[in-house]
Amino acid sequence: MRLVLATRNRKKLVELARILSGADLAVELLTLDDVEVPEVVESGATFADNAALKATATARATGLLAVADDSGLAVDALNGMPGVLSARWSGAGATDAANLRLVLEQTADVPDERRGAAFVCVAALASPDGQVETVEGRVSGSLTRVARGEGGFGYDPIFVPDGYDVTTAQMSPVDKDAISHRGRAFRGVAALLRAGGGTR
Ligand code: IMP
Repeated sequence: MRLVLATRNRKKLVELARILSGADLAVELLTLDDVEVPEVVESGATFADNAALKATATARATGLLAVADDSGLAVDALNGMPGVLSARWSGAGATDAANLRLVLEQTADVPDERRGAAFVCVAALASPDGQVETVEGRVSGSLTRVARGEGGFGYDPIFVPDGYDVTTAQMSPVDKDAISHRGRAFRGVAALLRAGGGTR
């Protein structure tokens, strides 16, 4: 079985490939470098809508099974934002560093006990005939006041998962995958694939 990983974010792609490779599936993983897929506008209002848009467009265009994720950081003190806007929080063409700085500025006056946040990931598995299944993964934690660590990407340097005293940027890739929103969602996708998901 061939499965297209439908993301243009290289750092996400590395995580997805690592998580699915570790799930011991009998699938050949392809990326968007291997297939022709038109650019998809992430116009959905929810993580699930956007993940399904990306996965179904890829499955249709390639005639293959496709998985996509939509993910982001939901900050309690910002009413769940940046949420689906995480990648472009400081504007179109935003960098991870600028987005992270903006969240730190916006939460500068938020006291320690109200600095809760969660990383959320919805993975969508789509087949060429239009079937789509979604799985949500989530990890709760809190925001730091300064960026710490070099690993991961995006908001990792300012997110400490509950039960830890390091940011996800200070964790090894394997340790991050074990508890991360993306690890949880894509282990769910692996379970769907083992159960014949997308091929029914
Ligand atoms: P998407 O490509 O629209 O799903 O945007 C995801 C955005 O959410 C990324 O650009 C990051 O800013 C943020 N994000 C998602 N997952 C992670 C993660 O594992 N660590 C840090 N930031 C993340």
